[in-house]
Amino acid sequence: MAAFMYRCSTCGKRFERDQVRYLCPECGRSYRPGMPLTGVLTAEFDYGAIGRKFRKKKPDWSLFSAVEPKFHPCYAMGVTPFFLSEALGHAYGLRDVWVKNDALNPSGSLKDRASFLVVAEAKRIGEQTLVAASTGNAASSLSAVCAAAGKNAVIFVPQTAPRAKLAQMLLHGALVVPVKGTYDDAFRLSLEFTALHGGLNRNTAYHPLTIEGKKTVALEIWQQNGWRVPSVILVPTGDGVILAGVYKGFEDLWRAGLISRLPRLVCVQAAKSNAIHRYITTGRYRDASNPATIADSISVSIPSNAHLARAAVQRSRGFSLTVTDREILEAQHTLAALSGVFAEPAASAAVAALGKLLRTGLVEPDDQVVVLITGHGLKDVDAALKSVQMPDAIDATEAALEGVAQRLQKWKGNR
Ligand SMILES: *Cc1c(COP(=O)(O)O)cnc(C)c1O
Ligand SMILES: [Zn+2]
Repeated sequence: MAAFMYRCSTCGKRFERDQVRYLCPECGRSYRPGMPLTGVLTAEFDYGAIGRKFRKKKPDWSLFSAVEPKFHPCYAMGVTPFFLSEALGHAYGLRDVWVKNDALNPSGSLKDRASFLVVAEAKRIGEQTLVAASTGNAASSLSAVCAAAGKNAVIFVPQTAPRAKLAQMLLHGALVVPVKGTYDDAFRLSLEFTALHGGLNRNTAYHPLTIEGKKTVALEIWQQNGWRVPSVILVPTGDGVILAGVYKGFEDLWRAGLISRLPRLVCVQAAKSNAIHRYITTGRYRDASNPATIADSISVSIPSNAHLARAAVQRSRGFSLTVTDREILEAQHTLAALSGVFAEPAASAAVAALGKLLRTGLVEPDDQVVVLITGHGLKDVDAALKSVQMPDAIDATEAALEGVAQRLQKWKGNR
């Protein structure tokens, strides 16, 4: 591990790692539930040391980790597939589209990267209980990592979360608290709970190591891409922590002198849950008043990490766009049919964005574009079934097979 200090992203003040836990003590004081977080901390490493010690031949990724490897839980996250999908690119008029399939993390989403590091931190400081608010994936992930590490997970989640995600949390043995309300309500309640009853809070961006954990996907993309930086990365965005994490990973590489440019990061939001998109495009922040979208994982009224997410897009010379629920479901179908990857709606939003890139005039057909698949389709089967039709069942007789043969002919003709 390289040495690091926390730096407040609002006032710039620096702190030793054990001097602070969540937000900057100064800037966090003005934080009230109902607004994006202020005083979010980012870890600043000794980049000179990383640059001197890092070897591509034998990469020591722990140099970039804010928690010593001896505290890392025994939980095999990360190192997910990264591959070229010519068919997917072709469908959208692009020639170099790559899929980073982070749905193949153990709990089925990219959230494992953040949960892993925060649980490592809990081990380091000797904290037995972790608390989180979640739309579903952060909670199922934290529950899984806590199970592996012998820790307690206390989960605040909207009672409307997809059933598979709730099943995961319950099976992993978390204390699940369904909330009659939205994700934003759960976020507020979980902060109040930790303030009153303790435990280490894993809320996204509130705990700075959520950003550090998520940045590891950027380090992996760089390595798997043959130590090259892609042109564009599409990031499905709710609270904006994945976006800030991907940015942070490349920024670390850049500050360590290992890369000479950043990829352009594209913030992709659902049309109804678009607070960060509007903040980026207008410069003014306003909550998404009714963030109802089928992409539950990116449905958020008050994105906690709006400020850093906007900075990530601006500093990487990226941009932002939105996609409708209909476009999301179509893209989910296209991805599954053309690349063999089954993604949940939130992740499919990034695929839907592929269809809008050329029209922005900011991306060329030959640019290398990476689509970040953040969550697995099996997490929300009901949503997936909306874009397909369930065929009628046949009688269990040989005679019925004639009908199947006819269907096969017709189906081939339609392909
Ligand atoms: C959490 C999540 C996102 C969005 O991440 P943020 O950090 O909240 O922007 C996107 N897709 C999936 C599947 C997620 O679980
Ligand atoms: Zn500050």
